[in-house]
Amino acid sequence: MGDVHERGLATRAIHAGQEPDPRTGAVVVPIVTASTFRQDGVGGFRDGFEYARTDNPTRRSLEQTLAAIENASHARAFASGSAATAAVISLFEPGDEVLTTIDVYGGTYRLFEQVFTRYGLRFRFLASSDADEILAAASERTKMIWIETPTNPLLNVIDIARLAEGRPDGAALVVDNTFGTPFFQNPLDLGADIVVHSSTKYLGGHSDALGGAVITGDMGIDERIAFHQNAAGAVPSPFDCYLLQRGIKTLAVRMPRHEENARRIAEMLEEHPLVERVFFPGITSHPHHDLAARQMRGVPGMVSFRLRGGRPAVDRFFAALELFSLAESLGGVESLACYPFTMTHGAIPDEQKLKIGITDDLIRLSAGIEDGSDLLADLERALAAV
Ligand SMILES: *Cc1c(COP(=O)(O)O)cnc(C)c1O
Repeated sequence: MGDVHERGLATRAIHAGQEPDPRTGAVVVPIVTASTFRQDGVGGFRDGFEYARTDNPTRRSLEQTLAAIENASHARAFASGSAATAAVISLFEPGDEVLTTIDVYGGTYRLFEQVFTRYGLRFRFLASSDADEILAAASERTKMIWIETPTNPLLNVIDIARLAEGRPDGAALVVDNTFGTPFFQNPLDLGADIVVHSSTKYLGGHSDALGGAVITGDMGIDERIAFHQNAAGAVPSPFDCYLLQRGIKTLAVRMPRHEENARRIAEMLEEHPLVERVFFPGITSHPHHDLAARQMRGVPGMVSFRLRGGRPAVDRFFAALELFSLAESLGGVESLACYPFTMTHGAIPDEQKLKIGITDDLIRLSAGIEDGSDLLADLERALAAV
């Protein structure tokens, strides 16, 4: 069949790790539910399978797909993005310092600040998304720089290549690529060491499965992540692996539609008198538009905006939405609206949120892949009800 890794992203998403089943010819990878595998004599594992926490055929296939779409050699699938994040933190020791930004995913903030700080790791949450300012904050204790780009919910874009070239010796650069998606950017190609995903979002794409991934081109890192995956056991079920892999197959057809719908929404909101400010890196008014255009092949379907009238206006807006569901999460085929101040970023102290612009009039939209004109009509009607 040739080397699937040399083919385009849409092809890799459908074929990498997904050769037809050698016994039956089934073109879809089987869901293997066995928790244990018969050994041909002690230690005589067939194809390396021994026990399903350690490795499972459906999961292994998903991991091969995940590695291929991020141009990587290794990927490990986890039960959630948060479990993947915890696995990456397991690489570090008490006293190690992690530099990150304050507008990381709220659950990542909570995991760093309220769980791993207790184990002696030091997390510094910077208010800047400027790569040089982040680098200026590094010290010899810095063992990792952890970023998201675009960030959540303000869609700031951070220069990955600049961080990769300027980081201190021995500091790993980790990029949570949940928002960017491998369709729009491959952080490992820009010099990052590790990519993390919440596959719950765009990769799965249908809001019906939780998953996470740690992806790298470094065999030593992968071995340690695999050790943690097996030791701590936060693995996805074979059925969830199937759903996530099924979702990934259509990533390359879904993302352009998410982008187009978000762009139309951002352009409409920019013109609306009730909207104070729009955050969408795909339009020229965004402060990081040029960097986004250089670093990314496009932008995902996320749009945030400030609504005039504060919390009462926000409540009336949400109440009037019909197609957009008020809900956590993002990246599914259905459009969602969320209130970062108390929902996704509820775990971050108020003064920290306000410092970086997560205000009580901020609304975040995840544009689905419905008809764009219907989404615009829904938003316009909800704005009229404000
Ligand atoms: C949702 C999310 C996570 C956490 O993933 P879960 O699958 O919910 O555990 C991490 N990072 C980002 C950017 C997210 O959006």
